Amino acid sequence: GEFHRDYLQVKDLRVSFDGFVAVDGVDLVVTSGDLRFLIGPNGAGKTTLIDAITGLAKATGSATFGGVELLGMPSHKIVRAAVGRTFQTASVIEELSVLQNLDIAAGMGRKSRELLRRRKTVPTEVELALETIGLTGLVNAPAGVLAHGQKQWLEIGMLLVQDARCLLLDEPVAGMSAIEREQTGELLKRIGEQRTVVVVEHDMEFLRNFANSVTVLHQGKVLAEGTVAEVQADPKVIEVYLGE
Ligand code: ADP
Repeated sequence: GEFHRDYLQVKDLRVSFDGFVAVDGVDLVVTSGDLRFLIGPNGAGKTTLIDAITGLAKATGSATFGGVELLGMPSHKIVRAAVGRTFQTASVIEELSVLQNLDIAAGMGRKSRELLRRRKTVPTEVELALETIGLTGLVNAPAGVLAHGQKQWLEIGMLLVQDARCLLLDEPVAGMSAIEREQTGELLKRIGEQRTVVVVEHDMEFLRNFANSVTVLHQGKVLAEGTVAEVQADPKVIEVYLGE
């Protein structure tokens, strides 16, 4: 296949909390265009893995994006390395408009200076992000009035204007309505076409509809990896999920 410069490569990643090993030697490669889902029982280490890659949990091993080592980097540098993540609870600023939220996010990213120079109109990057997340018509609405799903989309838009090419999304469809989930799935597919995207999500029907590939974590280790059909048929995966 085609060579991808934009790939996330995790090698022998380990995170422990006071001797408890939450992530236990994880290897992972995700290329751009591969919409990867990360599943596993509660406590498997999914969030901690994302925390480690984005500098929020102390880890050993290696995590690179586009060849740049992320471990040990402060958060603002990780943003500049084009890696971004969302949290289970959307962290938009409710009092500010959709546009202002995007502007602030853009200011934290790699293009801040460029954007500030062209401040008179809505920058193209912001327009494109608004289109992608389907919030063009709500550009001046306070983020606080957005529906739950729209807040998650805004948060994804904030990563897009930061020029994130590697997006790590922690349960983006949790608490969404069926329609919002469907729309989010389509959004993830679009974003995943040209970016490296890892999505934490449990719902198997959602995975069947939208996942390109799946990594299953269990007790901090990679238990299985493959297509949705492959991991669903894997006896090790079945055992772990039946044992829950
Ligand atoms: P998942 O996202 O797969 O549900 P987590 O990554 O949240 O799992 O947690 C993995 C394990 O690490 C769990 O046993 C959890 O209790 C533990 N853990 C996570 N964060 C901390 C922390 N800050 N301190 C101590 N233990 C933690």
